[in-house]
Amino acid sequence: MIMKIRKGDTIKVLIGKDKGKTGQVERIFPKTRGVLILSVNEYKRHVKSRARNPASRQGGQKSEIITITKPLPISNVALICPKCKKPTRIGFQIEKGKKIRICKKCSKAID
Ligand SMILES: [Zn+2]
Repeated sequence: MIMKIRKGDTIKVLIGKDKGKTGQVERIFPKTRGVLILSVNEYKRHVKSRARNPASRQGGQKSEIITITKPLPISNVALICPKCKKPTRIGFQIEKGKKIRICKKCSKAID
């Protein structure tokens, strides 16, 4: 399976609560076809944490808010072409025996 989006790519969110946001791909999950994007699809969660070191934290149980970033389905994002700066679809081209990604809008190599 070929993943069109790669780590470090800049993408734009097309669907969902963060629609319109842009961000950088942090991680790819090929099995689930998910992408993790920095500061996109974040959820705040309250967790009760017990002080791990009682000497430094007083009061025992403490509630904390943690931010969880969830991966988005790869189909919900579009790559922003580094050349023409537009959200685009990706094509592939073989050049000197190497497969390279091509922007379908400006036809320039992305990699
Ligand atoms: Zn382009």
